[in-house]
Order: sequence, then structure tokens, then C-alpha cells
Amino acid sequence: MTDYEPVIGLEIHVQLATATKMFCGCALSFGEEPNTRTCPVCLGLPGALPLPNERAIHFGLMIGLAVGSELAPRSIFHRKNYFYPDLPKGYQISQYDEPLCRGGRLGDVRIHRVHLEDDAAKLVHAGSSGRIHGSDSSVVDFNRGGTPLAEIVTEPDVRSAAQAREWLTLLRTTLRSLGVSDVNMEEGSLRCDANISIRPVGTSALGTKTELKNMNSFRFIERGITAEIARQEGLLHAGEQVTQETLHFDPRTEQITSLRSKEEAHDYRYFPEPDLVPVAITAEMLQAAHNAMPELPAAREARLEGLGIASGNARQLAWRTELGDYFEAALACSDDGVDPQPLANWVCNELVARVGEDDPARSKVSPEAMAKLVALVGDKAVTVSNAKVVLDRLVADGGDPATIVEAEGLGAMGGGDDALEPVVDAALAANADAADKIRAGNMKAIGAIIGHVMRETKGRADGGEVTRIVREKLGI
Ligand code: ADP
Ligand code: ZN
Ligand code: MG
Repeated sequence: MTDYEPVIGLEIHVQLATATKMFCGCALSFGEEPNTRTCPVCLGLPGALPLPNERAIHFGLMIGLAVGSELAPRSIFHRKNYFYPDLPKGYQISQYDEPLCRGGRLGDVRIHRVHLEDDAAKLVHAGSSGRIHGSDSSVVDFNRGGTPLAEIVTEPDVRSAAQAREWLTLLRTTLRSLGVSDVNMEEGSLRCDANISIRPVGTSALGTKTELKNMNSFRFIERGITAEIARQEGLLHAGEQVTQETLHFDPRTEQITSLRSKEEAHDYRYFPEPDLVPVAITAEMLQAAHNAMPELPAAREARLEGLGIASGNARQLAWRTELGDYFEAALACSDDGVDPQPLANWVCNELVARVGEDDPARSKVSPEAMAKLVALVGDKAVTVSNAKVVLDRLVADGGDPATIVEAEGLGAMGGGDDALEPVVDAALAANADAADKIRAGNMKAIGAIIGHVMRETKGRADGGEVTRIVREKLGI
């Protein structure tokens, strides 16, 4: 049987976090009473004239800079004509053959283009709102209509569902650090369509693609793509063909259904928007976009790796902005010359295990306390296992790690602690079998001795120190 390789290109719609809509002065809506944020422009009333939102263009330029696009000195808005009840103008104002940004790359995926457009209104179907009477009616809330969108289109460089999910995580983090969008999938400020085809492994021509529309969580995107790849493989293995169409994935049933056969560009009768002049990017606008650029996740990842942090940790810290910020705040509290890797380990593993997806800055563990705890472990003043107990206390109640160690008697019994030797003696006596094995060269048996000592000392003994004493006592 032929083996197939998936080929995936993504189209992402990002609602831009401007104060007002794309072509009018209406404020953006966040769940206000329906149809309270409208005006003749975004309702498409005859004679109303659009005016582009300069801030949206600024955000578009920032996105272009972030992915290394070529920024068009002059770009054009087009009308994309189609009929739907959520589109009162009868067309969307979008960009067609002269977009704001062309080309670029983010991570391992090339960007085809980034352009600006306005969002459609929202259809509310009966059953999903108590306000609607009658079982088969829909109503329109025009508050969302006209919200500025950036559409980011990738080249078909993605090769798996997991890669799509991972890349979208990078994109979301990047957009968040730019501050151009809330990038919240549940609220629809980040929406993704996936174009999917498969081809025999080793070939390079593109297969016929389908388009999975508007999946609203990263998890559903991954599952939807996986299901669609399997469906296409099933078709080809059965000797059938993939038809180009637009599909819907239902995450509850895992079913894929056809929404419509694929429309072509000429179906939209694109033509230049006669009510808008071309967008001309001035030197000042470019400079303003450059000045507004923060450190991006990819750059942060490289910088953290440069500090000697393992690549997995560096990526986690760079891609989860608030985790990275927390880590850097803790690092700033650490002594100069401290090795950042143990701190990265504690933050990425132990702290994340306790606070989960929450912003650690909102936990009771201050960055300073985190830094101090890691320093105590580094100084062997507390063992790793007891440091985890201290971290539990910090998560629950906050406070200072050294004070907790003192108050709860969690301090390590290490080298120079006379109390440790008798405990090791007792452990050897109580585990004579293990002692014999160690004498015979089986060092694995030392686990039983260390375990005994740890129980007796309530985790305060330093494992390395116990091993040293055992070796000394047994003369090996
Ligand atoms: P359309 O004309 O259908 O909008 P485009 O060529 O504009 O198609 O591409 C839309 C998206 O689909 C892009 O992300 C692109 O990378 C992706 N794409 C194009 N052809 C394929 C294909 N054969 N398989 C997978 N993705 C594709
Ligand atoms: Zn308006
Ligand atoms: Mg296209």
C-alpha cells in the first residue's frame, strides 16, 4: 500500500485589539447588548463611507515585521463579494493581489502573506439564545461586524496535525507578545482554517486539498486534521479521489461533513474598493512599527539557550510568556553567577506541576522565594525532596523558604552534620543483606540504605553524603 505524507497550509484570522472597528468609529464589542455598537458604515447603509483604521494598519505592519515579511509600500483594499445575512454590505473589504505583507517565516513554516480585512457580523441561531422565540429562526448581532482582522496565510509547509498545533502555539505567543490581539480561541479572536492534502511519500506535486473551517481550539484543530488525513487516506487507498471542498469537523462526534464545494476567487468578483484610496505606508509608520516591536518568543528562546538553559526549558519559557517573565524575575533575584539551569528546571517542572496553566506571578510563590529555594538546594541546605515540600508550603501559603525550612525542621543533614553518621550506622545494621551486597560490589543495594536513612531523617539527609559515609564505613 502506498504511504502518504500530509501537506497542510493554515489560514489564521486574528481579531486586532484596536479601540475601534476597521472602517468606522464604532468601539469594538465585548459582549455588549446586541446591535448597540453599529453605525451606518458597519451596517452597510447606502452612502456611508469607510475610513481605514490607522492602528489596525500599524498592527498589521508589526505582524509583518515579526514574521519577516516584505511590507508593501502601497497596498490595496478590494471588495470580496458574496451574499450572507451576516454581511450587510454584500461584500467584505479585504485585500487581494496587493496585500500589506508578503512572504516571511515563523519557526519552521513559511508565511505566504498577511493582509487586513473586516470581520462579518454574528449570526445567532435559535436555541442558543433565550431572546429568540420560534424554533427555526436566526438573528444577526452586528456588533462584531467590521472588527479589524489580520489574515495570516502560510505556505503548505506543515506536515502533521501535531506540528500544526505546535506552530499555532508559537503564532499565538508571538501575537500575544506583540500585543496586537487577545488571541483567545474560545472568544473567537483567533480562528484557524486548515487546508489539507496528502501525497505519496517521496513525491513533490501537491494533492487535491480540502479546507477544514473555523476550528475553535488547538485541540480540535489537531483532532480535526488527524481525522481528515485519515479520511483522505481511506479514499485514496480505496482507489477513490479527494474532491476539493470546504469541510466542517464536529469535535463531539469526530464527524467530518461537507459545507460546500470549494469556491474559486472569480466567484467573489474581487474589485478594488472604490471608496478607499490605496494604503501608502510612510517612513513614520514603518518607524513606529519598528519602535513598537518587543522581544519575540523565537529570539527569547535563543537568548535563554545562550544562558545555558536546556532547549526544552528554553522553549517552554519563551513560548509561555508569563512563565518566561516569572523565570526572568526570579533569575534577577538570584545571586550573580548562579547557574540558571536549576532555576529553569524548578520553574518549568516543579512550579508548573503545582500551578498548572495559571500565571505563576499570581501564585503565592514570589519569584524571590523561588530563587531562594533553588539557592538553598544548590547550597545543599535542603534536599531536593524536602525542597518540594517547601514548595508545596509556598504554593499554599507563600512566605520565605529559609523560614519554612527552619520552622519545620526541614534543613538538610549533610557533610559535617554529626547526627547523620549514627543514622547510617543504624541503617546498615538494620539492612545487613544490603550491606553485604554493597561490600560485594553491588552498589544498587545502596538504595535500601538511603531509603532507610531518608525515612529516619524525614528526607533531610543528603543522598550524596549518605553514600560517602556508607562507602567509608564499608571500606569500598
Ligand atoms: P485557495 O485559492 O483555495 O484559497 P490558496 O492557494 O490561496 O488556496 O491557499 C490557501 C491555503 O491553502 C494556504 O495556506 C496554502 O498554503 C494552502 N494550500 C494550497 N494548496 C494546498 C495543498 N494542495 N495542500 C495543502 N494545503 C494547500
Ligand atoms: Zn460602525
Ligand atoms: Mg486563497
